[in-house]
Amino acid sequence: VFKYPRINIIVVGLDASGKTTILYKSKFGEVLNSQSLFYSYETVDNRELSIKSWDLGGSDRSISSLYKRFYENVQGIIFVVDSNDRYRIEDAYYELDKILKDNQLNDAVLLVFANKQDLPEAMKPDEIARKFKLYDIQGRNWLVQDSCACMGRGYGISEGFEWLLNEIH
Ligand code: GDP
Repeated sequence: VFKYPRINIIVVGLDASGKTTILYKSKFGEVLNSQSLFYSYETVDNRELSIKSWDLGGSDRSISSLYKRFYENVQGIIFVVDSNDRYRIEDAYYELDKILKDNQLNDAVLLVFANKQDLPEAMKPDEIARKFKLYDIQGRNWLVQDSCACMGRGYGISEGFEWLLNEIH
């Protein structure tokens, strides 16, 4: 029995950005199953937490639109970007922009994981924030957290989740 309403988070981004790896390295990883769409519950300060994750973009856009039903009651958006993939950064922005324009997500805070910071050509958080036009955002709290989901436990992941959950509380 939970005292407070459930926290709903979505974890999205282009394929291969690192969503799966980040989720497994987060403290919520243990309860995740191996489907491409995760659905899990944990308690955070006596609240129930639901995390759903899927790929954005790609050729099968009809599939993407099916996931819009998961936008309902979402308080936190985690957008994962492969910071090293300059070739697809515009595609990533296109997908993020669509999400941020969705009225169902007006009240959701935004965490961007600037992932794969271990790679030498990786764009830094500020460059990604500018490419994603985040400085123009009004009425929504956001953070670009640099992260590495590869070696050992990685870094930036728990910091990002902590920020997000703190914003939601
Ligand atoms: P998803 O499709 O967004 O779920 O991406 P995955 O989590 O499957 O990751 C795609 C690939 O990127 C895998 O080979 C991961 O090992 C790799 N990867 C994920 N995070 C990082 C990172 O921080 N650095 C590096 N170098 N590779 C990463």
